[in-house]
Amino acid sequence: MNSETASPANTSPANASPVTVVGLGLMGRALARAFIKSGHLTTVWNRTAATADPLVDEGARRASTIGEALSASPLTILCLTDYQAVRELLDTSDADLTGTTLVNLTSGSSAQAREAARWAERRGAGYLDGAIMAVPPAIGTADAVILHSGPQADFAAHRATLGALGTVTHMGADHGLASLYDVAGLAMMWSVLNAWLQGTALLATAGVDAATYAPFARRIAAGVAEWLPGHAEQIDRGSFPAEVAALETSARAMDHLIEESEAAGVNTELPRLLKAMADRAIAAGHGGEQYPVLIEEFRKP
Ligand code: NAP
Repeated sequence: MNSETASPANTSPANASPVTVVGLGLMGRALARAFIKSGHLTTVWNRTAATADPLVDEGARRASTIGEALSASPLTILCLTDYQAVRELLDTSDADLTGTTLVNLTSGSSAQAREAARWAERRGAGYLDGAIMAVPPAIGTADAVILHSGPQADFAAHRATLGALGTVTHMGADHGLASLYDVAGLAMMWSVLNAWLQGTALLATAGVDAATYAPFARRIAAGVAEWLPGHAEQIDRGSFPAEVAALETSARAMDHLIEESEAAGVNTELPRLLKAMADRAIAAGHGGEQYPVLIEEFRKP
């Protein structure tokens, strides 16, 4: 990730440039509203035209065709159900996209993002892919994190406009990066939550409620997060000296987690998964190295 970040505080109506929003579902409507509120001349288009009515009342301009929508502004935000819908829609339009920049905030995979970028290039349009890591009510506030990837120059050219949506960041030139960061963030989120739920279920068997355990769990999670830069250095160097603890020491503690879970009668799937991965790394001769050596297990198909 580079430092190309903008947030709503960085934008002002004085430099507001026109923008089009295509797709006015729950998210698209929130995006359009944020642009209207920050003073951008906002053109909107939706397959079901009546959905645009409240936005027009709030100051948006309605495009009667998708072609008109695409040619109305130098920047068009796409926010549809999926990439197939985006392609179906844009393939029907013979609008001249030369010089237009499309920012596709539709959720999808990195492969779909790269393919969409190639399609846009063939049509003469600039293309940034994006991932919205927020819910509609947060759009337009700094809490709405929106990742973008694609040519840095395209992001820089439209950073002020995109900043009306939230905290927008450029992740790199590869169009697939926004989607990859998005799912990497979800992996982090679900793993932390599942680990917390495991502990919560265990402690409940001793009468400890979730609210009592939560502050303790939060301190552990924050402490582990502090290890990441050092662990990342080991991974990037490809060298895993046991500076703090060896993997085989961690694996013995995993046995305790499995035994406790079994004895308490709670689910053991997560503890067994952790142990199975550690056991494979130990069998491959990595028991004396530090925990991040497990990256080798994650790199396998
Ligand atoms: P939504 O409320 O279901 O809206 C879907 C939009 O796509 C509607 O405007 C719909 O038009 C349009 N659409 C679907 N198929 C189409 C087609 N073939 N041609 C033209 N338009 C088509 O969904 P949403 O919540 O706004 O989500 C939109 C995108 O944002 C999704 O990719 C979603 O994953 C992503 N996202 C959403 C959230 C969230 O909290 N909502 C958060 C992060 C990311 P009609 O109105 O005519 O049906």
